[in-house]
Amino acid sequence: MRYWLVMPAAGTGSRLGGPMPKQYAQLQGRTILEWALAPFLQDDRCAGAVVVVSRGDTWWPEVAARLLGATQILTAAGGAERCDSVLSGLLALEGRIAGEEWVLVHDAARPCVSSHDRDRLLESAASHPVGGLLAVPAADTLKRADAERTVLDTVDRRDLWRALTPQMFRHKRLREALERASAEGMRPTDEAQAIEWLGERPLLVPGSSTNIKVTTADDLVIAAALLAARPAGSSGGLAR
Ligand code: C5P
Repeated sequence: MRYWLVMPAAGTGSRLGGPMPKQYAQLQGRTILEWALAPFLQDDRCAGAVVVVSRGDTWWPEVAARLLGATQILTAAGGAERCDSVLSGLLALEGRIAGEEWVLVHDAARPCVSSHDRDRLLESAASHPVGGLLAVPAADTLKRADAERTVLDTVDRRDLWRALTPQMFRHKRLREALERASAEGMRPTDEAQAIEWLGERPLLVPGSSTNIKVTTADDLVIAAALLAARPAGSSGGLAR
């Protein structure tokens, strides 16, 4: 099988602080974005990647230069929200991909995804009629609260999962799903939600809870520790 990667990287990441968007923060010798790309760039099944960056992004050219010679990497312009950026990435693939081919969408802010999780998603979702996403069962007790942070109730967590990325869908169907959502003024927070709005039911593929999204400075510390703990030789195939 063959797939393309779409990497939304056009967020501002303002909660992390610092002079640059969070995907360009340094982690164990390279940017968060480079860590997030690595398991895909070293995968023979990956035909190429579209990295979606914001129009005013002055950091991407330097990173792109370091990645020259790796799998084919295209750049697309980001939009106002994550779903707009993902759609922009899909549109950049028109003419290069057949409608039935698979696209993996992976956040630039998730540097700790492992090749093991990548493979588990590829193997499970490719044999599913709709596609699927990495996810982790909710482990904490979940509370619903009002605006004053007073507990309203406890939510039964037995059927609840946290949606991660990558998420894997067929190019044409995902494009249709995101275009339909946009036309109806709906803002999906992941690809699966847009597909669900078409009445389809993606597969949840259990992933590792170490595949964290870096949002705060605390997450950066956790991500650095997770990457440092990886066995030698599993650093993702990019030169440091
Ligand atoms: O903001 P959040 O962490 O949820 O963003 C998830 C991913 O979506 C990040 O990789 C971010 O760069 C990307 N994003 C984007 N375009 C936006 C907002 C977020 O590509 N307008």
